[in-house]
Amino acid sequence: MESIGVLMVCPMNSYLEHELEKRFNLFRFWTVPEKSAFLATNKNSIRAVVGNSSAGADAELIEVLPKLEIVASFSVGLDKIDLAKCKEKGIRVTNTPDVLTDDVADLAIGLMLAVLRKLCESDRYVRSGKWKKGDYRLTTKFTGKKVGIIGLGRIGMAVAKRAEAFSCPISYYSRTEKPEIKYKYYPGVVELAANCDILVVACSLTEETLHIINREVIDALGPKGVLINVGRGPHVDEPELVSALVERRLGGAGLDVFEHEPEVPEELFGLDNLVLLPHVGSGTVETRQAMADLVIGNLEAHFLNKPLLTPVV
Ligand code: NAP
Repeated sequence: MESIGVLMVCPMNSYLEHELEKRFNLFRFWTVPEKSAFLATNKNSIRAVVGNSSAGADAELIEVLPKLEIVASFSVGLDKIDLAKCKEKGIRVTNTPDVLTDDVADLAIGLMLAVLRKLCESDRYVRSGKWKKGDYRLTTKFTGKKVGIIGLGRIGMAVAKRAEAFSCPISYYSRTEKPEIKYKYYPGVVELAANCDILVVACSLTEETLHIINREVIDALGPKGVLINVGRGPHVDEPELVSALVERRLGGAGLDVFEHEPEVPEELFGLDNLVLLPHVGSGTVETRQAMADLVIGNLEAHFLNKPLLTPVV
């Protein structure tokens, strides 16, 4: 397999890079200064693309690689891959589901606690020496809060299970009601937002879910409501979210993802009603290694003509 060209489109994980390099002819696209010239020279040897949540395979890249057989994503989200184009050209697609579910759900609960109990701000209070001048202000209870989830898939369900342990009543919105699930279903996001204290975004990013959190949803969640986004940045109309937080029309937010990462609106930096994270939902050593092993396993399976481990297309 050493002669098979694998194009890694951006830096993502050193273990994955190392393991790919041991098995394949690895090209690190981000280190290439003249991308068009590089592709013209190497297009006939590249048979696989490895992407992640920030860069994948768009129609332009797919069109330029005539020998491309498989796109293996180091993420569960597929929003950076042109799936229709892959289907049209018979290119296989794999992702990394399940292995990251626990970490992302853990982080969602962590964000809820951090926002309501002001963990980050009270940590800064201690470090800055302010405690010596007086006790920290009272915060908001998490146990028992109504949690609404957009997208009751693997991550959404894992968040629900964890929130249940905090005695939180759970409700959800997704394209279809799941009759086997006991949680209350709302057929619209605005209705869900109006009936919960904490709204969690855990659906896939598609044309339909782009800006699923808009002004109407934010207003329905209201000045005591909290938005948690562990999905993708473009799920949220970011300027609307910023103005709602600045004007205190929304109670608070815990955000792991942003519309134009790594850019984060600076208006958010001075606010005490939110917690900002640098897209670290699956960012543990254990999970990133399991994701890397899945990427490698899928590529090996493909090139050995075996069934893919986690096929999407
Ligand atoms: P999943 O099991 O495929 O679940 C996705 C859910 O999205 C499904 O339950 C689906 O429900 C729902 N959905 C799809 N289209 C929808 C629509 N138009 N309206 C409402 N709901 C819709 O995927 P997962 O493993 O839980 O991952 C979910 C997402 O989390 C990923 O796509 C990714 O973007 C994000 N993620 C983020 C991080 C991070 O680091 N923050 C890490 C991993 C994943 P129905 O089919 O019933 O509509």
